[in-house]
Amino acid sequence: MSSNPVAETVASLMPRAKAELTELVAFKSVADFDQFPRSESEAAANWIVAALRAEGFQDVALLDTPDGTQSVYGLLPGPEGAKTVLLYAHYDVQPPLDEAGWDTPPFELTERDGRWFGRGTADCKGGFIMHLLALRALKANGGVPVHVKVIVEGSEEQGTGGLERYAEQHPELLAADTIVIGDAGNFRVGLPTVTSTLRGMTMMRVSVDTLAGNLHSGQFGGAAPDALGALIRVLDSLRAEDGSTTVDGLADGPAWEGLQYDEEQFRKDAKVLDGVSLIGSGTVADRIWARPAVTVLGIDCPPVVGATPSVQSSARALISLRVPPGVDAAEATKLLQAHLEAHTPWGARVRTEQIGQGQPFSADTTSPAYAAMAEAMAVAYPGQEMSYAGQGGSIPLCNTLAALYPRAEILLIGLSEPEAQIHAVNESVSPEELERLSVAEALFLRTYAAG
Ligand SMILES: [Zn+2]
Repeated sequence: MSSNPVAETVASLMPRAKAELTELVAFKSVADFDQFPRSESEAAANWIVAALRAEGFQDVALLDTPDGTQSVYGLLPGPEGAKTVLLYAHYDVQPPLDEAGWDTPPFELTERDGRWFGRGTADCKGGFIMHLLALRALKANGGVPVHVKVIVEGSEEQGTGGLERYAEQHPELLAADTIVIGDAGNFRVGLPTVTSTLRGMTMMRVSVDTLAGNLHSGQFGGAAPDALGALIRVLDSLRAEDGSTTVDGLADGPAWEGLQYDEEQFRKDAKVLDGVSLIGSGTVADRIWARPAVTVLGIDCPPVVGATPSVQSSARALISLRVPPGVDAAEATKLLQAHLEAHTPWGARVRTEQIGQGQPFSADTTSPAYAAMAEAMAVAYPGQEMSYAGQGGSIPLCNTLAALYPRAEILLIGLSEPEAQIHAVNESVSPEELERLSVAEALFLRTYAAG
């Protein structure tokens, strides 16, 4: 890689990148303004505005999104007739959680064991620095050959959907031929990976009522219909013996054809206790990326401490259903609702209420942008081939962009490999990953422009 001028430039820019990421990490830009002052998020946004202006971006603006936060936008015009690429990152971060659980201060970038620790180093302030490095490397080596739009969101972690609504209201603003979402991560450090599918999700509240009020379990138990018992049965009906999700009529997505997730490795990553089996069937990748998965998120029932010998008259649960690519989330929601109603025993009264829904996402990996990224990754990661991974969670913005710009190609890359421990205490970024992915992004823009 050292013989490549773009890679040499990125290497020489790494000290500056570290200094900049240190400044950016110092802003406590958590978009929960009851817990963290809004001024911290505003300062981070202004830092990004200044950084884009310094790079020669035009039309740099703070966009007031409907959720009361601000996204930063800028345009770097390329040669006439060139394609347009949108680069995405977000400057808001997860709260630090348990500050005492951090080995170093969460908002002070600290180098330790070859990694840079601090909240947002990987997710996703480092993602913005990656975009800057890629553009600077191209400028130093013949110029940026595409029109570049940058959007840096201010409330990704809160899931308040501000940028999604704003983009829908201003459909021209983010229009692009290709979109690079810099908020995903390699499957492992050193293994170049594009995330090509995301599962969708639906959340549902289910309530079961059987009696006008609670009854003594000695006097009435055995004949009185127990609402909690009914709820347990209906929740259990959502699983087969091996733990696979079984919603009547809901099919699996197509089998996973990308990167495989080694079962032993998965056990380790998920910290599964000795002697406990994984659930589901098929490969691990099938189970977490290509199949539906129900999880019971909570149950309203009497806590053990203070519980009395009573038959419960009502019970409630919140469940999530991860929806695989290729399945419509609205259709999956209907099937889940019908299943819950059909499987509630004893004529118990059941009510379902949908809380939220996001569609799954699936990229066209045969597109020219994917070919260009594979070529770029092979140079940035010598001896490695680009892999495709899925992601079990959802990024609603992907669906918004895919719906607004059906012809745009969407690539998800980024710094959030497993060791980064995003959303947990002791989040960190690997500087080597930042360097290599910046090289990959620069070479991608160049190869894509030429294609
Ligand atoms: Zn993120």
